[in-house]
Amino acid sequence: MHVVVTGANRGIGHALAAHLEASGATVTRTSRSPQPGYATLDVTEPESQCAFAEHLGTRAIDLLVCNAGVYLDKGQTFEGGFAADLWAQTFATNVGGVFQTIQALMPHVKRSTTPKVAIISSVMASTAQAPGGSYIYRASKAAVLNLGRNLASDFRDDGVAFGIYHPGWVITDMGGPSAAVTVDESAAGLVERFAALTLANTGVYEDFRGEAIPF
Ligand code: NDP
Repeated sequence: MHVVVTGANRGIGHALAAHLEASGATVTRTSRSPQPGYATLDVTEPESQCAFAEHLGTRAIDLLVCNAGVYLDKGQTFEGGFAADLWAQTFATNVGGVFQTIQALMPHVKRSTTPKVAIISSVMASTAQAPGGSYIYRASKAAVLNLGRNLASDFRDDGVAFGIYHPGWVITDMGGPSAAVTVDESAAGLVERFAALTLANTGVYEDFRGEAIPF
C-alpha cells in the first residue's frame, strides 16, 4: 500500500507517517520546506502541487492523507482580531490547499484498486457544536468537511472513498502542551479509521476513536 501524508515533518502528520509505515505501508512524506526524506509540497502553491505530482510519476496512491493545516487565529478576540490576511492564508491552506492536493493527485489515486482520501478536519468544523471563537479556523474546517462530503458524492462512481476526521485534541505545536491526546494515540486511532474506510461509509465524519461527530 502506498500512502501520501501532507505536512508529515512534525505533529500529527509525522506520527501518522510512522504508524502507517509500521503497519506495512510505503509512505511518501511531504514537507513544505525541502529536507532529506521528504518530498517537497507547499499545498498553497500550484507549481509545488504540479512538481510533486510529476515526482510521483505513474505510481498509484492507495491512501492520500490531507493533514497539512494552520490555526492562525488561535486566541484572537472579536475586537481587533481576525484580520483579512489571516482569512486568506487559512483558507488557502486548510481548504484550497486540500482541494488542490486532491485535484493534482487524483490521477494517482485513481490508479489504486482500493483508493481512499482522508481529510484531517476537526471537531471545530461542527456547526451543531458552536461554542464560539476561532472563527477563521472553525469556518475553514467546516468548509473542508463540506468539500470532503461533496467529493465523496462525486467520486463514488470512480470507487474513491473519502473520510473526514477529527484527530482529537492532540499535543502538538498546534494543539499545545495542555492537549488531551498524544500524537501516538491519535495516529493509532486514525490508522484504524483509514483501514475501516470503504465506499460503504464514504463521506464519514468521525473522530480518531470512531465516534461520529454531529455535523
Ligand atoms: P502542527 O502545527 O504541529 O503541524 C502542521 C503541519 O502542517 C506542519 O507539518 C506544517 O508544515 C504543515 N503545513 C502548514 N501549512 C502548510 C503548507 N502551506 N504546505 C504544506 N504543509 C503545511 O499541527 P498538527 O499536527 O497539530 O495538525 C495537523 C492537522 O490536524 C491540521 O490539519 C490541524 O488543523 C488538524 N487538527 C489538529 C488538532 C490538534 O489538537 N493538534 C485538533 C484538530 C485538528 P511546517 O512545519 O512547514 O509549518
